[in-house]
Amino acid sequence: MTNIQLISDNALCTACGACCGICNSGAISMVTNAAGFLLAEVDESICTSCGKCLRICPGNPDITPAMNSRDIFHGKCLSGYIGHALNPHIRQKSQSGGIVTALLCYLLERKLVEGTVINTFNKDNNRPRAVLASSVEEIINGQGSLYAQSSVVKTILENQDKNIAAVVLGCQAESLQHLAKVRGNGLPSYVIGLFCSGQYSGKYIDEILHISGCKKEQVTGFRFKDKDAGGWPGNLKIYSSGKDYVLNQSIRHRLKKVYENYRCLLCYNQMNIYSDIAVGDPWGVDKFDNLKGNTVVIARTEKGEALIADAVRDNIISVEEIPAGQIIDGQTVDGRLKTRFFTAMQVTGNKGLMQPYDIKKFNGIAYRKPSMLKRLEIKRQLDYTRRIYRIKSIHMVNFLIRSRKLELMLNKLVIKMVRPFLKILKLTA
Ligand SMILES: Cc1cc2nc3c(=O)[nH]c(=O)nc-3n(C[C@H](O)[C@H](O)[C@H](O)COP(=O)(O)OP(=O)(O)OC[C@H]3O[C@@H](n4cnc5c(N)ncnc54)[C@H](O)[C@@H]3O)c2cc1C
Repeated sequence: MTNIQLISDNALCTACGACCGICNSGAISMVTNAAGFLLAEVDESICTSCGKCLRICPGNPDITPAMNSRDIFHGKCLSGYIGHALNPHIRQKSQSGGIVTALLCYLLERKLVEGTVINTFNKDNNRPRAVLASSVEEIINGQGSLYAQSSVVKTILENQDKNIAAVVLGCQAESLQHLAKVRGNGLPSYVIGLFCSGQYSGKYIDEILHISGCKKEQVTGFRFKDKDAGGWPGNLKIYSSGKDYVLNQSIRHRLKKVYENYRCLLCYNQMNIYSDIAVGDPWGVDKFDNLKGNTVVIARTEKGEALIADAVRDNIISVEEIPAGQIIDGQTVDGRLKTRFFTAMQVTGNKGLMQPYDIKKFNGIAYRKPSMLKRLEIKRQLDYTRRIYRIKSIHMVNFLIRSRKLELMLNKLVIKMVRPFLKILKLTA
């Protein structure tokens, strides 16, 4: 197969939509599978087999991500910061400290860009949707993090004739990198990268709505984390034409393993190494006013560093410098992420499954070997997420979801009971 269908059929599509945006013959569309994941689908009767889609795909093992640092999991770090937007409204409505939104508004108001590609909640289908925001009001309306998938790079390519900034995840920044290499020019003028530990199926949102009791057709807004009730990191909040609903964060965490995307288990790029600035929540970095929210930032390019300095000078954001290593430690990159990536690559490699990267490119990076229990857990999650992704029957998907929930509940119970013994036998951390 000489097109992107190869990637989708192997469950390696990140749903970025770059292939769809670059295809001249209109043969590729983004569709939703039975398990609620977004993926690229090719109309073989129109495809000319030009191969362009494969050359920019972050799921294609034949193209190598640029090794721009000694440790690709960390990426190039010019400087690190923690801080927040100085506009209290932007800070309060934000996911972390509102630095992303403050910077996007700043770029627009200074006319450094004509618009910004952001992600909004589409109440027509209760799914995230990438849009071009051309006003401060639209940018502010798009605040917060949407963990279900959307095709951000497709929207970027639809606006490639404009001078824009874009907010992207690691896989999306990777396809922009490949695009720049293929075309000889970069696309957005500013790339703001979110740290990302994974994307989820749209069914994740459906299930949360179901638990809340809010009718789907009444939903007017959806926040995975909202600071209004109790401050950062916030609880789930659903806005509706009737009352608003607040649900405890523990519900979101409990469902993660049910709706996680298989491809995300094979990702090294949580720290968004191909951005101008990469941002995230201040995990592991204490600050006295954390309940109001702060964003941690790694400047990865000189342009990104200059943007931070200008925004500080013009009283848009307030930041204090901290070591980038502290931010990376807080995201548990060297322990958890590397262990998961190398274990997942080993497990899928042993089974002869197609992988998004050539593991040889990662030679020489040390990682902590998983405990027996951790290895089993990663293996099981790979099996489940791959299986559910590829199933065509909705009934079967619903059956698998129910079984997985039961399995996770039982696992939790059993592990609680046997953990002290496993610790003695050194089979778990
Ligand atoms: C899928 C996902 C996984 C994440 N994982 C981590 C993690 O592991 N560790 C961590 O510290 N932080 C993670 N984050 C980032 C974190 O949640 C915040 O987005 C970040 O700290 C910026 O906060 P802020 O207050 O400055 O942004 P805000 O001012 O709230 O602005 C956030 C911007 O991100 C845009 N956006 C929201 N969802 C998406 C999306 N799916 N794709 C592209 N743009 C989007 C919004 O439209 C908005 O413009 C994740 C975010 C997402 C979306």
